Amino acid sequence: MKRILITGAAGFLGSHLCDRFIKEGYYVFGMDNLITGDLKNIEHLFKLDTFEFYHHDVTKFVHVPGQLHYILHFASPASPIDYLKIPIQTLKVGALGTHNLLGLAKEKGARILIASTSEVYGDPLVHPQTEEYYGNVNTIGPRGVYDEAKRFQESITMAYHRFHGLETRIVRIFNTYGPRMRLNDGRVIPAFMGQALRGEDLTVFGDGAQTRSFCYVDDQIEGIYRLLLSDYSLPINIGNPHEITIKEFAEEIIKLTGTDQKIIYKPLPKDDPLQRQPDITKAKEILGWEPKVGREEGMKKTYDYFRTLSKEDLEKTEHRDFTTRNKR
Ligand code: UDP
Repeated sequence: MKRILITGAAGFLGSHLCDRFIKEGYYVFGMDNLITGDLKNIEHLFKLDTFEFYHHDVTKFVHVPGQLHYILHFASPASPIDYLKIPIQTLKVGALGTHNLLGLAKEKGARILIASTSEVYGDPLVHPQTEEYYGNVNTIGPRGVYDEAKRFQESITMAYHRFHGLETRIVRIFNTYGPRMRLNDGRVIPAFMGQALRGEDLTVFGDGAQTRSFCYVDDQIEGIYRLLLSDYSLPINIGNPHEITIKEFAEEIIKLTGTDQKIIYKPLPKDDPLQRQPDITKAKEILGWEPKVGREEGMKKTYDYFRTLSKEDLEKTEHRDFTTRNKR
């Protein structure tokens, strides 16, 4: 039986990865320090004898007993509200955490896949973003702690690959959504869903002309799964290339939820990328992957999930700090 360690196991993507690898017949070690993760996302796995949970912070020495074939490093805060609240932990998990996991992979002879991000492209000057684009990142802005940690993570991963011959994989994840997103993480989809369900107006930041491309979680997991099992060691974009402005997206949500909320405008957070769309030519050619779930279907499933949350959960929202606003 193949044994895999998944860090960030109680998070949004981590928990879906645990489900997928259990389904594929793997023995899964889930690891999380539960700063942003939630045990609710994996509590259905605790009864299985092919799942073990370690409550551990990967910035400290990581130990897993016995053989390990694969490591997926998905531990990291991943929303702008989190980087503002826990900037040092964000830097540490991308840098020190990745170093520990690369060391563990080397020790065990395991293949390691690390979760990188479209944020390595910053506020991109090339559109859509290909893997060859080096990015336009503000190192000292509020997003810098995440962006630079992830850029360092890619560098150290390539160094272990080239210097130690470690089998490494790097996925650059573009905006992904679906069930188990944290309601209060400040990201646009949970924010709009929560607002619609509470009967509040939808907050669009800036004039809403900035674009994103949203990938449904099942598609994202399939891409990651294929990448891990491939023999490709350079970074690869996984995301949905269908781009939409945030204003149009807010209008879609109002239509989907059948509510009569209005859109209200708030200041654009600092360094908020103006446009983002993955070029997925490489994923198509190398992994034979492309997204299958359209936004209408994916958003409906996501809304169905948010509707199951209790009234109490719905009230536990946090709002972004607008003190670092952009003049754009
Ligand atoms: N956004 C918004 N209203 C919100 C939350 C986010 O208009 O209540 C915008 C945000 O400014 C950004 C986009 O939605 O342009 C996506 O934000 P998110 O935090 O989901 O992810 P990002 O892609 O910026 O990391």
